[in-house]
Amino acid sequence: MNILMISAEMAPFAKVGGLGDVVTALAGALAGRKHDVRVVLPLYGHLDRTREKIRPIAKLPSVALRVGQEMHDARYHLMGSPRSRVKIYLVDCPTLYGREGIYTDSRGDSFPDALARAALHGQAALQLAGLLDWPVDVVHAHDAEACPALLYRRHWYAGRGLPGPGGCVLTIHNLAHQEIHPPEGVDTLGLQRSMASYPGLLEFHGKVNLLKAGILAADRVNTVSPTYAEETTADETFGCGLQGVLAGRGGDYNGILNGADYATWDPRRDPALPAGYTAQDLSGKEVCRKNLLAELGLKADQNKPLCGFVGRLVHQKGIDLALPLLGRLADDGFSFAILGTGDRKLEAAVRKAAERHPDKVAFIGAFDEALAHRIYAGSDLFLMPSLFEPCGLSQMYSLRYGTLPVVRRTGGLADTIIDAKRRNGNGFVFDEASPEDLLAALRRAEVLWADRAAWRKMQERGMKCDFSWSVAAGRYEKIYRAAKNAAAAQVKQHGRA
Ligand code: ADP
Repeated sequence: MNILMISAEMAPFAKVGGLGDVVTALAGALAGRKHDVRVVLPLYGHLDRTREKIRPIAKLPSVALRVGQEMHDARYHLMGSPRSRVKIYLVDCPTLYGREGIYTDSRGDSFPDALARAALHGQAALQLAGLLDWPVDVVHAHDAEACPALLYRRHWYAGRGLPGPGGCVLTIHNLAHQEIHPPEGVDTLGLQRSMASYPGLLEFHGKVNLLKAGILAADRVNTVSPTYAEETTADETFGCGLQGVLAGRGGDYNGILNGADYATWDPRRDPALPAGYTAQDLSGKEVCRKNLLAELGLKADQNKPLCGFVGRLVHQKGIDLALPLLGRLADDGFSFAILGTGDRKLEAAVRKAAERHPDKVAFIGAFDEALAHRIYAGSDLFLMPSLFEPCGLSQMYSLRYGTLPVVRRTGGLADTIIDAKRRNGNGFVFDEASPEDLLAALRRAEVLWADRAAWRKMQERGMKCDFSWSVAAGRYEKIYRAAKNAAAAQVKQHGRA
């Protein structure tokens, strides 16, 4: 199949969280199964054109695209090796993308022209397929930012522009990010005003909501774990106001568990680590632990676990549950390596805890890919007390690195981590979103930690867990086919794409 992916993120060069990892790995897995996968992203200001081998496509003309009242010129670039199986196209439009940041500026504030950025991205991606005369079987949009492409596919490109009556697929990586804008946003998108008032696709409590529109416009919708798919249709807390819209899609909405890219996340040959290791020989992990402690200036108690955290510092990740415990656990000899950026208040609170317990709590308020690898490898436990978690990749990486996850039973965490109490346990699971329940799970981990043989067994079991992408890629193929058939059926019925 010819698959056109549209995403704001792609690891490692444009990554904020799991979305970036997923797009890279899924595109690679699909290309490995002989599909022609092309990903279109904005050419962000932070990208180093020489290092990333970014070059303009001379044979493609620049295109003039309308966003609201303004016309923008955009040029197409290609990135990476010409031999790579996945083709990565970048849309160069300096007025909209020529600055640092993917969603936010350096202060963490959302870009005020986010809607314009998304609108141009969607138009440019569809236009590209037309210019290349490349018959698209599936337009696969990732998250709210990519939803305009689905709307244009349906409402503008009916019978023109995009070759082939391709199907539309939307993957929701996080329902909390919906891109909600004032109703005038419909003009920025250049769509009919009626779409922004009830019962228009975009209308959401008097505003426009890109994700809602995408859910309704796509032929098939999925999210990134079966449990999160259930949670988001059942409950306002998880559904973030879109539970009814999702439930209304019935069997066309489902959950496909993400995979982990074990080529990148492999403790045996990870260039970021001071020593490699395997499930059979964990001596390298001990080296990683010692090095990490030295790197972060921690004086860990050898008899107490070192807990790692790598993630966005936002309420979703359950940091608030861990914060009240840090001091007490540090006094008990636990140590913590915390890497993350996000909410300024949460960052300040973690920083304060680190200042109070400099020997036991290290906080690095940065985005640092290599250090993330060293934390996965050097820690004994990995903290993921998320309030909700669409899938979560960090727990899968931790397992592969022999670091046992401590997680709340929600979303993809519920689908991947089995509590130590069970015969095939690979981590520690708690239910209530409370510091007390998290503490109880950590205490259980502490007890197991003291029993080195039992701990070793569970580590080995965790390292052998296999969440590789091949299973998920097969499931995506299925929904691609279903979306393509649904789109073809529509063409038959209405006589247009
Ligand atoms: P989410 O998508 O909600 O952010 P996931 O667990 O799915 O959470 O994926 C998070 C990804 O982002 C992981 O690869 C994690 O290692 C990475 N990550 C998050 N914050 C940082 C950071 N500060 N430095 C390096 N990597 C990070």
